[in-house]
Amino acid sequence: MSFAFAERYREPAGSPIRELFPYLSLPGMISFAGGYPSAGLFDAEGLRVAAGNALLEAGASLQYGPTQGDPLLVQALVQACGARGIACAPADVLVTTGSQQAFDLLVRTGIDPGDVVCVESPTYPAVLQTLRLAGARIQDVPVDAEGLDVDALADWLRGCAPADRPKLVYTVPTFSNPSGTTLSPARREALVALAREYGFLIVEDDPYSELRFAGAPVASLYRVGAAAGGGDNPVIYLSSLSKTVAPALRIGWMVGRADVLRRCTVAKQTADLCTSGLAQRIAAAYLDSGRYAPTVARACAEYAARMRAMMQALRADLAEWLDAVEPAGGMFVWARARRPLDAERLFKAAVEARVLFVPGKAFRAVPTSGTALRLSFAASGVEAIEEGMRRLGQALRTVPG
Ligand code: PMP
Repeated sequence: MSFAFAERYREPAGSPIRELFPYLSLPGMISFAGGYPSAGLFDAEGLRVAAGNALLEAGASLQYGPTQGDPLLVQALVQACGARGIACAPADVLVTTGSQQAFDLLVRTGIDPGDVVCVESPTYPAVLQTLRLAGARIQDVPVDAEGLDVDALADWLRGCAPADRPKLVYTVPTFSNPSGTTLSPARREALVALAREYGFLIVEDDPYSELRFAGAPVASLYRVGAAAGGGDNPVIYLSSLSKTVAPALRIGWMVGRADVLRRCTVAKQTADLCTSGLAQRIAAAYLDSGRYAPTVARACAEYAARMRAMMQALRADLAEWLDAVEPAGGMFVWARARRPLDAERLFKAAVEARVLFVPGKAFRAVPTSGTALRLSFAASGVEAIEEGMRRLGQALRTVPG
């Protein structure tokens, strides 16, 4: 029997990163591929205590809860946002099952087939997948060392027919996945001004800003949007506990204006009724335990050392082939080939040498000519990073330019 799948699921493309999973189990593989936090940095003891506390109130933690989120967690997230300079009230927050769900809800409620959405090039692939399945028209905007090229976006908007204007602009402005870049304060102001002028929403995806290695925090786009005026903030803020506490909790959240939040809450009702009550209570207990800040500080110190080891190897041994901007936080180095390389041969040679990366094309809405590699420094220790970079050099030497 052949089943007539919905049009958009006839030939769906799987996630290019998840398709790398089989290579991970090859013996001796060093992976720079997934955006996985370091397993050695999970605060299992703190989470065990938080889980025990959550289960003391089993009547709440094991029951269905409000779609908007458990009030205890919502309160803890309002405080966490406050610590990042984001002033919000409980009514401004929607708890989601990972921040991936938050983006999915925004697309379900905001995008009809044919609507235009701008993304960075390179951008986070799960967002491309969501947009493609929704039938969005994806417009990419270049990224340079200061993040999204807001002037390029402005030029494009100026020449754009009203019907081709974007409804959403998606960005990871701080320690971007995959480019590692951070949007400068001046560009943040300019992007918010463009949102007001052309009437689009900015989706600020921010899972990484607390993983800062150097420099002072930059005001979030959400804050810039709130300061610019009138309770009519064009920025929707998304964040997650996946990179700082544990991805298995599947706790993300959205902060934004009431009209958007109300529709996303209805869409979430049909998606999963509510995020796991147990996970929410564990997260709330953990955030209230005082262990969150020291855990994040430990992760920052460790990731900074790993990033430096990776950059050191890039500069000392791989500079002939690759060029990268040093990230001030996050988990990723975006290494661009200095001259076009046969990306497929490089990937195969790297797998043979037992080192894994994500080929740059996974992050592009539209193919580009250059070759790039996303290298995550989060999951492996310094020694493994040094060895992995040596193997990458070995692979690069075998691939003709
Ligand atoms: N946005 C970005 C930029 C990410 O890198 C990730 C995780 N790789 C997510 C969202 C998804 O996070 P979550 O686990 O909260 O769904």
